[in-house]
Amino acid sequence: MHDYSTRPSAPTGLSFAEQREWMVRHQLAAWGIADPRVLDAMRRVPRELFVPEETRADAYFDGALPIAAGQTISQPYVVAHMTEVLRLGGQEKVLEIGTGSGYQTAVLSLLAAEVYTVERIASLARQAQETLARFGANNVRFHLGDGSLGWPEHAPYDAILVTCAAPVVPRPLVQQLADGGRLVVPVGSRGYQDLVLVRKNGQEAREERLSPVAFVPLIGEHGW
Ligand code: SAM
Repeated sequence: MHDYSTRPSAPTGLSFAEQREWMVRHQLAAWGIADPRVLDAMRRVPRELFVPEETRADAYFDGALPIAAGQTISQPYVVAHMTEVLRLGGQEKVLEIGTGSGYQTAVLSLLAAEVYTVERIASLARQAQETLARFGANNVRFHLGDGSLGWPEHAPYDAILVTCAAPVVPRPLVQQLADGGRLVVPVGSRGYQDLVLVRKNGQEAREERLSPVAFVPLIGEHGW
């Protein structure tokens, strides 16, 4: 288990840009995020754009933050870690389940050719679409619906990232993964989960448990 309690907090009085640089060095690189493309993407996405107005001052808090509809924007370290395990090279088609604020979507949009993102709450999907347009992402397609079913029309995907927790790895997502593809998903109880990496090779799908995490539930046919 990562011991986040010993992480240093950013010094006060820094601009958002300085806080972001501080985050990349002290909360990401210092804690094992090594892929330079991922670190660069985390440096380029202003988290303050994706949090509600009233929490903007805390945009670089080292943890998840509340957004609308009782949901959360994920902790930057977890966003970077989940992205890193996908090993994106820039040419991939990626499916994201759980658009939320769109912060993770923005990171993926800088690292892959196309991003398909699914959200079940209409108000969040609408807000994320606006924020991502302001951010300048033009390779993202949005879908409102139950992401536990994936988005079969555009399958197969080279990588799939699920930002909400499932009781088991949702079968449709494995089916929609390309041969050689990678899927990362929190799997466990409604309170605590492990990140699970699924690697698909032909008909075989190998699961590997990574670090412990705590995500909001995946609500749907193949979720809770
Ligand atoms: N990556 C997001 C971010 O950076 O803001 C975090 C999103 S939040 C932790 C998880 C999201 O998954 C919520 O917005 C929630 O509504 C969504 N969600 C839950 N079940 C879903 C489902 N079946 N299909 C699509 N989205 C779902």
